[in-house]
Amino acid sequence: MLNRQGRPSASGDAGAVDHPTFTGNRALQVEEALIFEIGRHEVTGVDIDEPKDFKSKLGALERTGDIGLPGLSEPETMRHFVRLSQKNYGIDTGLFPLGSCTMKHNPRLNEKMARLPGIGDIHPLQPLSTVPGAIELIGELGRWLCELTGMPAVAMTPKAGAHGELCGMMAIKAAIEARGEKRSIVLVPESAHGTNPATAALIGYQVVSVPAREDGTVDPEEVKKRLSPDVAAIMLTNPNTCGLFERDVVAIADAVHAAGAFFYADGANFNAIVGKVRPGDLGVDAMHINLHKTFSTPHGGGGPGAGPVVLSKALAPFAPVPFVVVEDGNARLVENTSDAGDAQPLGRMCAFHGQMGMYIRAMSYMLSHGTDGMRQASEDAVLNANYIRASLTDLMSLPFGNRACMHEALFDDTWLDGTGVTTLDFAKAMIDEGYHPMTMYFPLVVHGAMLIEPTESESKASLDLFIAALRDLALSAKRGETDRFSGAPYHAPRRRLDETRAARSPILKWTPPKPVQEAAE
Ligand SMILES: *Cc1c(COP(=O)(O)O)cnc(C)c1O
Repeated sequence: MLNRQGRPSASGDAGAVDHPTFTGNRALQVEEALIFEIGRHEVTGVDIDEPKDFKSKLGALERTGDIGLPGLSEPETMRHFVRLSQKNYGIDTGLFPLGSCTMKHNPRLNEKMARLPGIGDIHPLQPLSTVPGAIELIGELGRWLCELTGMPAVAMTPKAGAHGELCGMMAIKAAIEARGEKRSIVLVPESAHGTNPATAALIGYQVVSVPAREDGTVDPEEVKKRLSPDVAAIMLTNPNTCGLFERDVVAIADAVHAAGAFFYADGANFNAIVGKVRPGDLGVDAMHINLHKTFSTPHGGGGPGAGPVVLSKALAPFAPVPFVVVEDGNARLVENTSDAGDAQPLGRMCAFHGQMGMYIRAMSYMLSHGTDGMRQASEDAVLNANYIRASLTDLMSLPFGNRACMHEALFDDTWLDGTGVTTLDFAKAMIDEGYHPMTMYFPLVVHGAMLIEPTESESKASLDLFIAALRDLALSAKRGETDRFSGAPYHAPRRRLDETRAARSPILKWTPPKPVQEAAE
């Protein structure tokens, strides 16, 4: 059926076909049009007097045509955006099992701290003398990050994990150049996150892949075979993207260092080992920390993240400006390369001082948990992932045998062989059950991968319900009930979308539809 916008009904499920509604809405599930479709140019939500004696200084540059922005009244605006927000599935709505992305609860205390007027209202262009507390907080958070990782220095400014990788790898490049050497190769295990090879390639390195062994970890012998005086670094994730601890990490670090190369650790999975293992003790030279994964600052939808990079003694001098120096308990900001003394900063990673709001949330998380609380969060995250693994192994297959995992459980699609159901179908059917799908088809080394990370946020009751839902779906797939999967999601506002086309040829500009009569001809 067509709804009132003349679009096919949002719903394709049998119930809606049997009982079409006049509006196209289904109870509280309201079909929300684009703001351009409902807004009118002549409407505005505010009522301000025309300015008196207004003289434009723009001359010929003044806009004379219609700006074309859609206007709504205040209640219409409110409804539009509230309805859109209700279409979002987020960590505040339900379990969010994305692996590698670590969607954990964002404590409200963190939010409250970030909104304190003395913090929320400051501006990066304010004179430094008016914000000593903010500088001190950046220094203090950096100290905690160094303490937790066992590393001597940290570059706070990178704004995301990938940005931290760029910063760390630029520091490595600078250190190699300062030695008067030229090295052109970076080793990256094949299970790595795509940002690792992308970072290396972006700054001009040739990426050489290291295969995973049978058990999903990196073989130090395979690393050694590829080491040469031309290798600048290895980029290794630990725990890796298969949710496994790289047990030979020290041997790998030793071999890399013996070849004069550096060890970049992708710290996106640090939340599995906080308070248990210090990366500095494993021989790491640089590692980014995704505050938005490990330390509970909100993320998703490209929202603000923060990716501080801890650095070894050898790399510390190359840390970018601005950075905080704490001397005799006094924190001071070094803003310019020329004020950096003996250090040789690689430049700067961002215009201002980094993601202040995320620093405050992360600091608040750390202080409210304490070291024992953070250690317990890691332990609970690992326990929860193993509970899921153990509760599903009789139905779903594990690529690397039934071994304990770290913070995420990785299944492959061998168990779906012959059922006519794919990983994608299974994930879409999870949406009908009210769950955000797990990470699918990543890591690439595992066929039809399904990577589930429950985090420590979930209670046993919530895990049990999730497991029961997955078991029901798995049994249904094995019984050959392909209908439940092939057209899923049936109950979502939109059905199976062409995600490839949406990514490859997105339509980013709204063009007004033709008047109805014309379209009907
Ligand atoms: C999330 C992630 C990244 C990238 O971090 P962003 O903050 O999204 O830029 C890199 N590596 C791994 C393993 C990740 O999970």
